[in-house]
Amino acid sequence: LDPETLARESRAVINLIAGYYRDVEKYPVKSDAVPGCLRTLLPDAAPENGEPMDLILEHVRRHIVPGLTHWQSPNFFAYYPVNASAAGFAGEMLSAGLNIVPFSWVASPAATELENVVVDWMGKLIGLPASFLFSGGGGGVLQGSTCEAVVCTLAAARDRALRRLGGHEAITRLVVYASDQSHSTFQKGARIVGIPSSNFRVIRTWAASTYGVTAESVREAVEADVASGLVPMYVCATVGTTGVGAVDPVRDLGELARRHGIWLHVDAAYAGGAMICPEFQDYMDGAELADSVSMNPHKWFLTNMDCCCLWVASPDVLTSALSSNPEYLNNISQERAAAGPAAVDYKDWQIALSRPFRAIKLWVVLRPYGAAGMRAYIRRHVEMAKWFEQALQADERFEVAAPRKFSLVCFRLRPRYDEGDEAVEELNRKLLVAINASGRAFMTHFVVDNKFVIRMAVGGAMTEMRHVRDAWELVREKAKEIGHVPND
Ligand code: PLP
Repeated sequence: LDPETLARESRAVINLIAGYYRDVEKYPVKSDAVPGCLRTLLPDAAPENGEPMDLILEHVRRHIVPGLTHWQSPNFFAYYPVNASAAGFAGEMLSAGLNIVPFSWVASPAATELENVVVDWMGKLIGLPASFLFSGGGGGVLQGSTCEAVVCTLAAARDRALRRLGGHEAITRLVVYASDQSHSTFQKGARIVGIPSSNFRVIRTWAASTYGVTAESVREAVEADVASGLVPMYVCATVGTTGVGAVDPVRDLGELARRHGIWLHVDAAYAGGAMICPEFQDYMDGAELADSVSMNPHKWFLTNMDCCCLWVASPDVLTSALSSNPEYLNNISQERAAAGPAAVDYKDWQIALSRPFRAIKLWVVLRPYGAAGMRAYIRRHVEMAKWFEQALQADERFEVAAPRKFSLVCFRLRPRYDEGDEAVEELNRKLLVAINASGRAFMTHFVVDNKFVIRMAVGGAMTEMRHVRDAWELVREKAKEIGHVPND
């Protein structure tokens, strides 16, 4: 690695990326690339001889960028947006540039220490109880995704339950609970850690509880399982569900979990960022009853991919499920011995051994914005979503399909006359296809209460009010084009 080449080529890459951000608004948001499209453009084997970076970047411009769906477009309202910022980019560059592997304290003392500091900072920012902070006896780790974090917590919960039951054979009796709005990762994670699929309970939610699960319905399932000799092991509470942004009652579920010795995980992957604003913190009320909490700064906290914070109240329970001590990692070093048990070996807090230096990225993001800047950022998106929601409410052709809590608005066209459910669904599907085919915005859908609804997820770092207004104009225009005209 030659430092002069690094400086020259990195500048070229930065120029390309800065140019990309200057132009990103002009590209059709959703790619219309077809499977196999790059195979016809690229050679079928890697080059035998090295090629110049200028040529490679030219191919990025010509072949790759046109085939992308532009997640950083200000008109990207699909899924949940992933965030980017100049600070996030700088942090990612530092992480990639220093390129260390902080899997143990000895392997990277300052990186591990920085991670300890930054997860405590984040926990305090989003109002977590002190019991999740290193300073309060708990602790946190930065992982790549909520899905990984969930698998780790399920493994910890499984081992805790099996210890109590006295042996691995009892695994067939362990039960996991989630709602019909919980992320699919809980079902997948339960499978990965060996919970029989027949022991995964999907609890129904209702419009009346705004699609949050009620502790009452979880209690009924738990009691039925206990009565039939099964062992409730794990329940998830989601704050900001993927489909409609619903919130489960953390305190109620926490009390139930405590009564039955069930592990409670709070999944705030998307809405966790909003918890930096005091007006949203009630949604996490009762978090002190949870065993673990996770949120993704890469979703709505100005941090470039990837970054998921996972906090646990009892680090020992997590590390006893995930630790391994092969001889080749057994550094009998003076520094490690001197650091004592307080020194964290992050390899024991996650699935993989190797890991990037995410802490420096999050640290670099938090400093230039500060808590006040971050609050303003979140509130700006919430205000934009509120505006969109009010525009829908003022147009009789539309209905808001689930109450908005954060920056996600779910809506659909209402039936016009006595149209049946299928016809209304068809109409809304057509509307979504027309919106996305325009290239002017990208939205996705969800199905709730058997209704097909369109999701407008505000949260892109470059999204401004004018983009949300344009999106609303686009929705109205396409509704008209597909024949849904206002009644005069
Ligand atoms: N949980 C919720 C509520 C989510 O919305 C998502 C993704 O959108 C996830 C979990 C999965 O997150 P990740 O992609 O980081 O695994």
